[in-house]
Amino acid sequence: MRLRRFGARWGLARRARPSFHSRAMTNAPPRRPEVLAPAGDEASLRAAVRAGADAVYFGLQGFNARARATNFDAATLGATVRFLHEHGARGYVTLNTLVFDHELGAVEAAVRACAAAGVDAVIVQDLGVARLARAVAPSLPIHASTQMTCTDAGSVELAREAGASRVILARELSLDDLRAIRAATDVELEVFVHGALCVAYSGQCLTSEAIGGRSANRGACAQACRLPYELVVDGERRDTGDRAYLLSPEDQAAVSVVPDLVALGVASLKIEGRLKGPEYVAATTRLYRAAVAAALGEAPPPDRALRDAALQTFSRGSGEGFFRGVDHQRLVEGRNCDHRGLRVGSLRGVERRRGRSYVAVRLEAPVARGDGLLVEGGAAGAGEFGGSVWAITQGGADVPRAEAGDALLWFGPERTPGPLAPGRRVWKTRDDAVERSIREAVERDPRRQSVAVTVRGAVGEAPVFEAVTASGLTARVTGDAPVERAVSRPLTEPELREKLGRLGDTPFALGELAVDLPEGVTLPLSSINRARRALVDALREGAARAHPTTDASWRDALDGAALPAREPPPGGLFVLCRTLPQARAALAAGADGVILDFLELTGTGAAVRALRAEGAAHITLCPPRIRKPGEEKIDRYLASLAPDAVLVRGLGALREGAGDVPRVGDFSLNVTNRLSVAAVLARGLAAFTPSFDLDAAQLAALVESGVGPWAEVVVHHPMPLFHMEHCVIAALLSDGGDHRTCGRPCERHVVSLRDRAGMEHPVEADVGCRNTVFHAAAQSAAGVVERCRRAGVRRWRVELVRESPAEVGRVVAAYRALTAGAIDAQELWRRLRAEGERPVVRGSLRVIHHPGG
Ligand code: SF4
Ligand code: SF4
Repeated sequence: MRLRRFGARWGLARRARPSFHSRAMTNAPPRRPEVLAPAGDEASLRAAVRAGADAVYFGLQGFNARARATNFDAATLGATVRFLHEHGARGYVTLNTLVFDHELGAVEAAVRACAAAGVDAVIVQDLGVARLARAVAPSLPIHASTQMTCTDAGSVELAREAGASRVILARELSLDDLRAIRAATDVELEVFVHGALCVAYSGQCLTSEAIGGRSANRGACAQACRLPYELVVDGERRDTGDRAYLLSPEDQAAVSVVPDLVALGVASLKIEGRLKGPEYVAATTRLYRAAVAAALGEAPPPDRALRDAALQTFSRGSGEGFFRGVDHQRLVEGRNCDHRGLRVGSLRGVERRRGRSYVAVRLEAPVARGDGLLVEGGAAGAGEFGGSVWAITQGGADVPRAEAGDALLWFGPERTPGPLAPGRRVWKTRDDAVERSIREAVERDPRRQSVAVTVRGAVGEAPVFEAVTASGLTARVTGDAPVERAVSRPLTEPELREKLGRLGDTPFALGELAVDLPEGVTLPLSSINRARRALVDALREGAARAHPTTDASWRDALDGAALPAREPPPGGLFVLCRTLPQARAALAAGADGVILDFLELTGTGAAVRALRAEGAAHITLCPPRIRKPGEEKIDRYLASLAPDAVLVRGLGALREGAGDVPRVGDFSLNVTNRLSVAAVLARGLAAFTPSFDLDAAQLAALVESGVGPWAEVVVHHPMPLFHMEHCVIAALLSDGGDHRTCGRPCERHVVSLRDRAGMEHPVEADVGCRNTVFHAAAQSAAGVVERCRRAGVRRWRVELVRESPAEVGRVVAAYRALTAGAIDAQELWRRLRAEGERPVVRGSLRVIHHPGG
């Protein structure tokens, strides 16, 4: 019986938790969260600022998680940040990829460029990059990227200890989870509220790396979740109707959750979309600015037009994401994988009139000539029809725009619809008028930040002009002519305001004016003008204030990345098993130890006792990869079974330790360079597992850098492609939204997903109902074992999913021989390929030379 059934006992369900009294729920007025907009290029950055973004995030060429965006040049970074600061916005630079040792010099240069430009924070995934940034620019704030997979207070605190002042939480957290984290830590929290969702936990998706050598952790995701898959249940293909995109989630549009997030004290509301255009950036920024103002009681809720404009610019369907908990029926509809925009009606059929084929629709919203429309098709878009609307007939007349009701649409002579099934949904994919109105709205209203100015002085002395902007820029200028007694007409406050307020060609607007001058005095008007210009120059100067840097270099950081003084852990071949028969087979084949990873946990205690009774020398236990608030009890349960070691899979567990029990860091800690090795070993780990983002050459280079004796190298495993909060099994084999309503089909069926190449990738659910899609083939590191051995690696791991005991015996025996030097890699490949149950590939270990990198 699975623990999923015992949600209340384990607290693992989408539970009703006790109410928390977080800091945000005291009587203090709610803090205004910033609206944080994406910018993939200059046009989007300017659109974000004009639309009122409090902050903008963008990448530099090189190290950021959106390699496909245009990104910004380090040489012009100073001007970009100055522009943002002058307009009262903050700028965050994404350095959020995993890096390799040979790239640390470039990372140092990027950190120095950010510090020199005065960026407000760098967004970092890699613990090594965080270390380097701290050493090079100690006052440059660090934000922990969502790629760090922070899902509990422990991981947030670890990120803080690594130098982060803010943590961008995983998108899979509910409001209850956020409340629990907020109550337990005062680190600034940032959450995504709008845009595309990954189906996998960010930082834990290895699909693109495994399939095409394009790492999502290196900004090169190939969007494998947007591809069609077939469902295979108990070995048979199962018809999924129109649903083909089984892993492609709808987009997030959580404007309705903004009041909750404001009440919770979330510091930043983040909009996804560095690959999207300026209209999207402007429309979404305006929407969330309006939502924040409404949540603070300053304005009415955003109107329908604002919401629709945001969805029109880009949307694959919209929902609140995970804020209200999981809904496996909702998140992945499966009928499309790309932009749809707004739903405007449904299809009635195709009609021939006046020699033309018209698409007959029942409209629920207006459609105009020139709009882009799409009539959805069947599975994987089969039969989809769409294009620009050339002509509209409504009520028997040709009209430029149809209102709600029946209408006939003609798509031009080149586009003739085939047979289309009535009832299909009709989407407006493009609306030029909406896009034009977005552009006009932001252009009509160039953003200026308010400047409060104070003028003070005494007769015969030069006056002092002081300015402070809403964002905190300050300037102080002494006038170049003294305050004089007025002979005829004294200077009035309106005159002074008019002179100082001539800021039309600057990013500033005069706000409050305080005048502290004696009665009956005047100032030369030309002197006031010069003072105004000097104030503006000084404010602009202050907008580009650099962060100080040290002389520390990446080489110093590497030299300082000391390895533990303690002895490296003992060696051996360890086999990660999902069942007791696998564990018995592994031990019988000569494994030095087993790692029990029974995904549902059920039977773990009994297995430990049985294996102990049978003489197992070394048993490692491992908690699920994701740990949300309240799930620490799993770690405690596993500790109570007195294992010989535990696997550490997340930053929360990394921080906490496990008493005297040795801990081995798993691949999910994303360790790819010597600095991150040092960072995790400094937390008391006995050993670390190199990231699966390393190819064979990178893996060898890492272990050859001196860390080999502390490495546990995975030599054989089916790659965990997607690790998801979404349950594919419940979504496709039930009508239930979660484990309480799904009827638990996972307990009755063996489920796989078949890709376009015909490979069947197993889907397994863990105790928290999180699914992992494993690669159909096993990946072998056989070709790099000898180099690893020479580099001092003594610990090897084989990971299993559904292998039979007989297969386990073959695989373990082969690797036992290889790691002992009894056979070479060729012989191992020959044995596994000749006798194995599943294909064996090099997978992500293939060395691929990407152009330019
Ligand atoms: S889930 Fe994985 S494949 Fe899909 S967009 Fe995210 S990183 Fe890319
Ligand atoms: S089918 Fe999915 S949601 Fe339902 S119990 Fe199984 S893992 Fe949980």
